[in-house]
Amino acid sequence: MAQNVEKVNCLIIGSGPAGYTAAIYAARANMKPVLYQGMQPGGQLTTTNEVENFPGYPNGITGPEMMIELQKQAQRFDADIRDGWVTKVDFSGGIHKVWINETTEIHCETVIISTGASAKYLGLDSEQKYLKLGGGVSACAVCDGFFYRNQEVVIVGAGDSACEEAHYLSKLCKKVTMLVRRDEFRASKIMADRVKHTENIEILFNTETDEVLGDGQVVTGVRVFNNKTNEKHEIPATGFFVAIGHKPNTNIFKEYLELDETGYIINKPGTSKTNVAGVFVSGDAADHVYRQAITAAGTGCMAALDAERYLAAKDSTFEVSTSTYN
Ligand code: NDP
Repeated sequence: MAQNVEKVNCLIIGSGPAGYTAAIYAARANMKPVLYQGMQPGGQLTTTNEVENFPGYPNGITGPEMMIELQKQAQRFDADIRDGWVTKVDFSGGIHKVWINETTEIHCETVIISTGASAKYLGLDSEQKYLKLGGGVSACAVCDGFFYRNQEVVIVGAGDSACEEAHYLSKLCKKVTMLVRRDEFRASKIMADRVKHTENIEILFNTETDEVLGDGQVVTGVRVFNNKTNEKHEIPATGFFVAIGHKPNTNIFKEYLELDETGYIINKPGTSKTNVAGVFVSGDAADHVYRQAITAAGTGCMAALDAERYLAAKDSTFEVSTSTYN
């Protein structure tokens, strides 16, 4: 065995609501979990301003605050939370090998993957500026649409997500302008028809974003251009929603785990199990449908319980927790 090899019962990769919930359950089950936070400690919620739809916070909470609370809750039960980035895995044997920051090698009885997904953005400086300021750029209508009630917003994208989110926003906002870069939708016909027939959604085809406009603090509008005529015009808006897809953070697992065509990990239905025994998945890394903090937390719990069962079945000497599930 190489030097520097640590052996852990339960390694959790990722520090969003899925990872921390898995850590809370695993720690309370005496599995002594070690959690590596990854590049963006706290995950996607750290770019969300106010979280109002997570049960238990009647007055809402900011995304970063909620992640600190979750971390503290996991540490209260002695979960070992560490800085570090998983750079390589080897799931070919009975013991799963994971490398941190290219150097430290860890041998794991169980691994819980909670690496999440990243929303894609256009990459414009102005978009990134207001995203970081929490000033009106969002990639999640369900999370943030409520803040734009009775206001005018713009949404970019033409897939099923964009249609679903535009329709969701149309019920809250005065007007939704949808920017579609081609002359047709990518979305299924039924979803596209729904937005086409919604009165307060205006669809601009062949239209792309030139600049997100603002007053230095918040978004005030969007300058767009027609990619056929190059004509530009400005649309007043307080919210700029980007719905151009998500990328699951699963690249390092692709050699060993079954992924769908977009890269989401395929779990066994109704469980957190992957195709490799002892490797479990929770949160957005396996979910392109719901993508909510609460669903991620729920699957984090499932992964810890599945891992505990796996350990208990594998090694009768493993000290199973007093937590109750049969
Ligand atoms: P998709 O990849 O399906 O669509 C992305 C959309 O964003 C495309 O219309 C694309 O344009 C557009 N886009 C990409 N980059 C840019 C850019 N730089 N500027 C402007 N527009 C851009 O992603 P979705 O998230 O919509 O869907 C992912 C998967 O999830 C799909 O399989 C979808 O069917 C599924 N889904 C199903 C739902 C349901 O059934 N209820 C709900 C949501 C998602 P272009 O078309 O020109 O490439």
